Amino acid sequence: MVQILDGKKLSKKILEKIAENVKEAAFSIKLASIYNEKNPGSKMYVGMKVRRAASVGIDSEEFKIDDTWNTDQVLRLIDKLNHDDSVSGILVQSPLGQHIDESAVFNAISPIKDVDGLAAYNQGLLFENAEEKHVVSATPAGVMALLKAYDYSFTGKNALVIGRSVLFGRPMSILLTNADMTVTLAHSKTPTDQLQQFAQTADLIVVAVGKANWFQLDHLKATATVIDVGANKLDGQTVGDVVFQKTAAQVSWITPVPGGVGPMTIATLIQHTYELAKFQHRGE
Ligand code: NAP
Repeated sequence: MVQILDGKKLSKKILEKIAENVKEAAFSIKLASIYNEKNPGSKMYVGMKVRRAASVGIDSEEFKIDDTWNTDQVLRLIDKLNHDDSVSGILVQSPLGQHIDESAVFNAISPIKDVDGLAAYNQGLLFENAEEKHVVSATPAGVMALLKAYDYSFTGKNALVIGRSVLFGRPMSILLTNADMTVTLAHSKTPTDQLQQFAQTADLIVVAVGKANWFQLDHLKATATVIDVGANKLDGQTVGDVVFQKTAAQVSWITPVPGGVGPMTIATLIQHTYELAKFQHRGE
C-alpha cells in the first residue's frame, strides 16, 4: 500500500515554528515581491506567499510590473530594494514577460536578499556543496525538507529527475547529488525508451515537466518514491504532472497534488525570508 508524503501537514508545522521565531525576533522582517500583474498565475502565487507570510507575522510589499516595463527599469527597482534596510528578502515571480532579461534580474538581487536562491552567486555555492552558506531555490529545497522529514535514506540510491529548468530541475539534481545519490537528469530530448529504462531502476523519481497527467510509466520499482512537482490548471483544478492512481499503485511513497510539493515551496520561501532577516540583523 502506497504511503503519502504529506507536504500540507509538514508545511503547517514549519510555519508554526517560524511564527514562534518571528514573535521572539528583535528585528523586522519584510518580503518584497515583484511580479507581472498581467499574469494571473503570478498574481495568484504571490498572493498565496503574501498571505502565508502575514500568517506568521512577516510583512510584505508587492511591486507590480506590466508589459510596458523594460529590463533596466526592473534592475533599478531591484537596486532600490537591495539598498532598503527594511527589506529582508526579494522574490521575483517568473515569468516577468518575454521582453525582460530574467537572468539579469535574478543576478541583480543581493545574494543576502535572494529568497529563492536564483542568483548565479547562490547557484555557484550550491554547485560547491556549500549549502549552509546560501539559499537554495524554494521548490527543490522544499522537496529535500519533505524527504528528510520522512527520514528518506539518500546515500547510494538512484534518482531520476525529469525536467532541467534553472528554477527546479537543475538545482534539484545538484541537491540530490550533494546528498550522495546517483542522479540522472532527463529532459525533452531524452528518448522515451531510455526514460523508461531510467525509471525502472530509479529509487526516487522527481517529475517537473509542466504537463498535466503526463508521467504514467510502467514497471517502476515497488520500493520507489515519486515526487510530483507539477502544478497545472486543468478544468479549474490543480493537477500534477504524474498520473496519480496508476503510479501510486506501483510504488511505496508518493506526493499528492495538491498537498505535496506546493505547500512545501511556500513554507520554505517564508523560512528563507526569516533566516535571511536573521542573518542580516546579525551582520554576519
Ligand atoms: P519549465 O521551465 O517549463 O521546464 C520544464 C522541463 O521539462 C524542461 O526542462 C523540459 O525539457 C522538460 N520537459 C518537457 N517536456 C518533456 C518531455 N516530454 N519529456 C521529458 N522532459 C520534458 O518548468 P518548471 O518551471 O521547471 O516547472 C515544472 C512544473 O513544476 C510546472 O508544472 C510548474 O507549474 C511546477 N512547479 C511547481 C512548483 C510548486 O511549488 N508546486 C514550483 C515550481 C514549479 P527541455 O529543457 O528540453 O525543454
